[in-house]
Amino acid sequence: MRALAVDLGGSHASCAVVADRDVVARETVSLEAARGLAGALPAIAEALLRVAARAGVAAGECAGLAFGFCGLVDSSTGRVLSTNAKYDDAPGLDLPGWCRAALGVPLRLENDARLALLGERHAGAARGFDDVVMVTLGTGIGGSAMIGGRLLRGKHFQAGVLGGHLVADFEGRPCTCGGVGCVEAEASTWALPGICRAMPGYATSALARHERLDFEAVFGEAAAGDAVATAVRDRCLRVWAAGAVAMVHAWDPEVLVIGGGVMREGGAVLPAIEAHVHAHAWTPWGQVAVRAAALGERAALLGAVPLLQER
Ligand SMILES: [Zn+2]
Repeated sequence: MRALAVDLGGSHASCAVVADRDVVARETVSLEAARGLAGALPAIAEALLRVAARAGVAAGECAGLAFGFCGLVDSSTGRVLSTNAKYDDAPGLDLPGWCRAALGVPLRLENDARLALLGERHAGAARGFDDVVMVTLGTGIGGSAMIGGRLLRGKHFQAGVLGGHLVADFEGRPCTCGGVGCVEAEASTWALPGICRAMPGYATSALARHERLDFEAVFGEAAAGDAVATAVRDRCLRVWAAGAVAMVHAWDPEVLVIGGGVMREGGAVLPAIEAHVHAHAWTPWGQVAVRAAALGERAALLGAVPLLQER
């Protein structure tokens, strides 16, 4: 099966033609100048037509367009339900109608984290497993879950995808979701500057010299021996590990797949989470496999075929 695929990020969209487990052709379009999602759709459609031409197919010959969106979506109707400061015009848009008119194929809209899980299960780190939890550690904390080979969606399409908003510290930092002490508020790139500045000793630490307080800075300075950076790094590792145990308890997976930009920071993240999960998750049947995501930015694109084949 050939499919069109879009993975929509905050400032760009990755547009592709995929065939089963291969990305046949792919193009990234910048959406910096676009006004909302409505303003971005023409550039996305043009990019899809270009990648289809490069792949040697007409867009209309593809089985459909799998569209990964960074928010809550109703996957049964193809409507966006809720956004978080990105593409706030999206809930008012008729995306299936746009897709039919611009590309001549049906649309399947899905949350981007769910689409990435489908990709990792189809062609990556979770291949062969029917019970999967995936978490992405980065600007925010994404999550998704599959139980018995079916994506967990829930009554209001938000089951599984709010794993970053499980509570790690009930007396913790305020989160953008309205919660307090969410995993995302305690250990994500957007929260990191505030976390660093609140750490005792920050003003005289090596971190204070960084213009940009991201995980590259924190892991780098920790490796160089800075005590404050080490404290921030180790606290974030414990937050992610606690979140991972909570997700294992909530959704009973066989495998936990961990991806996102934070995984680029050396080899420390996965072993720390794995050790904590194996020590603290209540899994009398055995041990949850903890694996690094294998597909990187291609994961959501490679979720297209299984999404379109889903019954
Ligand atoms: Zn939250």
